[in-house]
Amino acid sequence: MARPRARNLPVILAGLLLAGGCSAPVAAQNRSAAAHAVAPAGRPAPAAPAPAPIAPAPPALRAVAVVAPPPAPVSRLWPFKHIYNADFVDVRAIAERYDLKASWVASGRIMQLADAHGRVRLRFENRDRDFYCDGIRVFMGETTVFNQGSLYVSKIDVIKTIVPLLRPAEYASQLPAPPRRIVLDAGHGGNDPGKQNFVLHLDEKSLTLDVVLRLKKLLEGRGYQVLLTRSDDRKIELDNRPAVANETKADLFISVHFNSAEATVTGTETWVLTPQLQISTQPEQDKAMVRAVYPGNHQDFANVLLGYQLHRAMLAGLKTADRGLKHYRYAVLRGAECPAALIEAAFLSNHTEALRIATPEYRQQIAAALADGIDDYSAVLAALHPAPAETRPAPAASHQHP
Ligand SMILES: [Zn+2]
Repeated sequence: MARPRARNLPVILAGLLLAGGCSAPVAAQNRSAAAHAVAPAGRPAPAAPAPAPIAPAPPALRAVAVVAPPPAPVSRLWPFKHIYNADFVDVRAIAERYDLKASWVASGRIMQLADAHGRVRLRFENRDRDFYCDGIRVFMGETTVFNQGSLYVSKIDVIKTIVPLLRPAEYASQLPAPPRRIVLDAGHGGNDPGKQNFVLHLDEKSLTLDVVLRLKKLLEGRGYQVLLTRSDDRKIELDNRPAVANETKADLFISVHFNSAEATVTGTETWVLTPQLQISTQPEQDKAMVRAVYPGNHQDFANVLLGYQLHRAMLAGLKTADRGLKHYRYAVLRGAECPAALIEAAFLSNHTEALRIATPEYRQQIAAALADGIDDYSAVLAALHPAPAETRPAPAASHQHP
């Protein structure tokens, strides 16, 4: 697992993320968000918003304890305000809870939250659907709202996206152990070529397979066990891809793709499954999907952590444009019982980017960045789950998962 180059950042990051953590009754908060969370973004302003209600405190659901429960979790519901038919949290409340300093970068428009060292952890802009967490672009379901002198973000985005990234320790009991067995999925194949660049004669299906084979080798060199959904040019139905991860009890599922859009667009996107009741970054095929709970939703917190670490490592390794960590209910993500992410490494439709993708060196760089991202995700989880060294031998073979 030792890596050839110094990568202190994840360790530092994991340490920072752990600071000041606590356990929050997330399920209870989600239930209170349920009635309002399906309103689409960008809706017209309604009549005067209802007075701010006090967050109801339904009795906490008791999950079946597979591992020892976290010590004495303190119930700390988010104070919220009903705006535009959804529940919103004041960004300053996030600052207050995590000892961050909120300040306007541009009055009434951009607010940032910095730590005691002046390091900007979060940055929000009015009417934007994305925010920046430690400089990385992340999409929410709802746009931010300016209200009574502050910026507000939707409560479901706070619970499902912002806090898991800022303070994963609060979700430690719901996060898995570091991954050992990884399923890699080369997008498309067989009679489905995926995206194509006809000028350079590039098929997405061949490039994804090449990256996956390179990544497999790198990960095996770092001590992971790696399985593939396909290792040659064949078509595999979408549902059968996460099924490989489920059947082999894998700890991670990663689907590799290349993107296509108008010719000027470049950059890297990372996708994870949209949590229940959160709105996806692009319109859903079927609106009923917003209310559904998929197998993948049992890993909502791990998904966002995984996606973030992969995305950050890709941007660092490839120096591509940051198109954001995004949410969508992709079939390959819905069905995965383990944490899962889908990578759109770069654009085949952009001539410069496609020229790069066409070289084995660049595809090796993509694989290396993904391997680093997996290591970084693993480091965050390892910091949350210190190994009980005295009671049992080192887990050489496998991890037990709840
Ligand atoms: Zn694709």
